[in-house]
Amino acid sequence: QAKARGRNGYRFYAPEMSGEGVARLQLETYLRRAIEKDEIFLHYQPQVEIDTGRLIGVEALVRWNHPQLGLVPPFRFIPLAEDTGFINQLGQWVLQQACRQMVRWQEAGLDVPKIAVNLSVRQFERGTIVEVVGAILRETGLAAERLQLEVTESLIMNTGDALAYINGLHAIGVSLAIDDFGTGYSSLAYLKQMPVQTLKIDRSFIKDISTDVNDEAIAIAIIQLGKSMNLSVIAEGVETDEQAAFLLRHGCNRAQGYLYSRPVAPEELLARWRAQPGTLDR
Ligand code: C2E
Ligand code: MG
Ligand code: MG
Ligand code: MG
Repeated sequence: QAKARGRNGYRFYAPEMSGEGVARLQLETYLRRAIEKDEIFLHYQPQVEIDTGRLIGVEALVRWNHPQLGLVPPFRFIPLAEDTGFINQLGQWVLQQACRQMVRWQEAGLDVPKIAVNLSVRQFERGTIVEVVGAILRETGLAAERLQLEVTESLIMNTGDALAYINGLHAIGVSLAIDDFGTGYSSLAYLKQMPVQTLKIDRSFIKDISTDVNDEAIAIAIIQLGKSMNLSVIAEGVETDEQAAFLLRHGCNRAQGYLYSRPVAPEELLARWRAQPGTLDR
């Protein structure tokens, strides 16, 4: 019989516990040590202006390379980190690394206009997110305008004090993007009160944009919504020239996706973009 310390004391696992449950517990144990063991790192995916190909920003995406398990995808360990609360430590580490990397690129002669970092709902629970972000900016010396935080619709709608925190982050100069926009519920009336700058059209709508009339309609609606609310709109998961052309035709000039680049290591990003002119413009 396996026994493990849970959030509220002890949890007992019956002998018939599924293999899946055991695997999850094992993963949880590994994950707790992953930062100190140097198994966690960030990759960065460029965000570009479609018509000029210029770099307008990067998104930081966390990676976990375990010596036995190999590369564990975020969809396997982020939800786990959220369930166990480890996401607070992980999320803070990600923010620190991402901000530090921006300063390093700057020192190496690459001016990345903006870095986007994903936030989980649990990072709002302690009520200290504004202080945490502020401290990291001071510590790393990154200008607040260079940092964009990505939150989901469900984070906004299900966090009691979301508006207060988002206002607080806005007040220290950080910008906000709504990630996976269109996949969750959000009240447009509520959205309107938020100092949010960017909508990210979810990849699922971009995928079949040129063949599925519903996806096409949704993408166009989001672009229009962004325009009328004075928000910038960026499309996620752009893989083909057709998708890029469609977006441009409908007034969306910002994209992120394999067509431009996969998420890459910082050195690779530097090597590819340092040579590119015009990255200073936002
Ligand atoms: P996301 O924030 O929506 O990030 C975009 C995901 O789409 C990334 O997956 C990226 O690699 C993938 N992607 C980008 N372009 C393309 C494309 O053209 N085609 C396809 N098929 N995929 C593309 P990734 O890195 O596996 O991350 C998955 C999710 O994990 C992220 O979705 C985000 O929700 C979460 N995540 C990643 N890093 C962090 C983090 O540091 N903190 C938190 N809280 N969540 C994170
Ligand atoms: Mg994101
Ligand atoms: Mg997304
Ligand atoms: Mg997504």
